[in-house]
Amino acid sequence: MMKFLSTKGKAVAIMATNNEYYHAVNHKQRYRLIVDSELWGYMMALASLSAPNEVLGIGMITKRCVGYSTDFIVDEIFVPRQEVAANYCSFAEGAQNEIMNDILERGDSTEKLCFRWHSHGNGSVFFSTIDEKDIDNCDSPYVVNMVVNAYRDSIARLDILEPVRVRNIPLEILVDINEEILERTKCIREIKEKCKMVPLGMQKVDPSAWRG
Ligand SMILES: [Zn+2]
Repeated sequence: MMKFLSTKGKAVAIMATNNEYYHAVNHKQRYRLIVDSELWGYMMALASLSAPNEVLGIGMITKRCVGYSTDFIVDEIFVPRQEVAANYCSFAEGAQNEIMNDILERGDSTEKLCFRWHSHGNGSVFFSTIDEKDIDNCDSPYVVNMVVNAYRDSIARLDILEPVRVRNIPLEILVDINEEILERTKCIREIKEKCKMVPLGMQKVDPSAWRG
């Protein structure tokens, strides 16, 4: 079991995946994009509602390094005024500045504005030549990019722009289960009622039991 804070500062527990054990055992550095389930649902809903057209957004990122894992956590998402088509989306004139002004006016810094995402409508997810150019034109030290589509496919990458350009570091995407959703569902009750802890030494070696 692993614990970390969600975007709203609440403790959220997620089960360690087999992949996490693999990395822990092999001590391999890995990079993750962590998105709160509520924000994830919001982006996916926008992608569905905009389809067949594309849609884009930007967001704030908090970077966190824990042992073998470098995590990029999405804190907040903004949807600018924009022009969209089935194979194209772009900020409307002045739209990016509007968002930056809003952030400054509420007293926050824009330096965490390192997340960019867009939908490919009903198309597949990949980084197009235009997407690559957009990444190259970013003026932040690093940028996290995600492409989604109306079918809930997703792909994410990290590009470091300063001090040395490092292209296209693949990011695992982890949707962080929001604590409020955990409370709404019956899973807490099911764990209490149905899962009985077997003490060490009392565990059966049963070839039919799941031991993964
Ligand atoms: Zn694209």
